[in-house]
Parts: sequence; C-alpha cells; structure tokens
Amino acid sequence: MRRAVFLDRDGVINRERGEHTWRLEDFEVLPDVPDALLSLQEAGLAIVVITNQSGIGLGLYGHEDVARVHRYLHDVLSNHRVHLTDLYYCPHHPQGGACLCRKPGSLLLERAIARHGIDPAASVMIGDRERDLLAAGAAGVRGILVPPNAPLLPVIRDQVLNA
Ligand SMILES: [Mg+2]
Ligand SMILES: [Zn+2]
Repeated sequence: MRRAVFLDRDGVINRERGEHTWRLEDFEVLPDVPDALLSLQEAGLAIVVITNQSGIGLGLYGHEDVARVHRYLHDVLSNHRVHLTDLYYCPHHPQGGACLCRKPGSLLLERAIARHGIDPAASVMIGDRERDLLAAGAAGVRGILVPPNAPLLPVIRDQVLNA
C-alpha cells in the first residue's frame, strides 16, 4: 500500500481569495507548491487533491471551467516535473441537498484510497479548514491544519517527510 499526501486545493495549492475561483486569471498557484510537491513525489508518495467546488451546484460556473483551471494546474506542475496522482472534486452545493463527497464528507478520500491502494494510516491530509481535517479523520487519515496561503514546503518537510 502506498503512502499519500492529500491536499485541499483553494488556500493550499492556489491562492484563497475569499470567493470561488474558477477563472484562469484568478487561479494563482502558490509560489512554493511545485517544489513542495516535487519533494513528495521524489520521496515516492502519492499526491491527491480533494476539493469542494460548490460553485457548480450554485450555477456560478461549470465542470468545463473547473477542467480548464485543472489543466492549467497540471501544466504548471509538469513544467516542474510534478505529476498529480489524482484530483477529485465535489460539484455539489449543500442547498441542493446533502451529498457524501463534499468535505467534511470523506467519500472522495475513500475513493482515492481504494483506487490507488493508499494506506490511510500512513497518509496525511493538508487543509486550511476544519472540514478538511474532518474529512481526513473520517477516512482514517491524519489531518494537518495550515493557515490559508501559507508556505507549503516547511509543512511538507517538517510534518510529512521528517515526521
Ligand atoms: Mg481551502
Ligand atoms: Zn458532493
């Protein structure tokens, strides 16, 4: 079984702006993210992004907008030789009824765990909200809470690779 790092998207991978981010011009990859992810990849860890995108359920933007920013993210990361193992998003908004995939729900983590043969007990989830940690906990994954838009490299170094 593989060890993995699960990452929230907004505020961890790209800049949290305090509102939904779906336009390419608003999607800013935080500066040390490529290096931080490269260090995980070089250590042999799986890298999985899990994100709530309730703006789809709200009708604010569509799946194609999410796909566009995620293609851009993949491009930025591949320029640094980084390849995400997988990326999952929940498109639902709570006003449309409860779903199991929106964090704090753990369905997307569980899907990744099953699909990629991940050992949850050896893995961590890094997020900037309590609900990220709740989702992790429900899947048996240790959560690490970070401030939004904080440098990722020290967290990876001190709390994942050298933990
Ligand atoms: Mg976030
Ligand atoms: Zn959902």
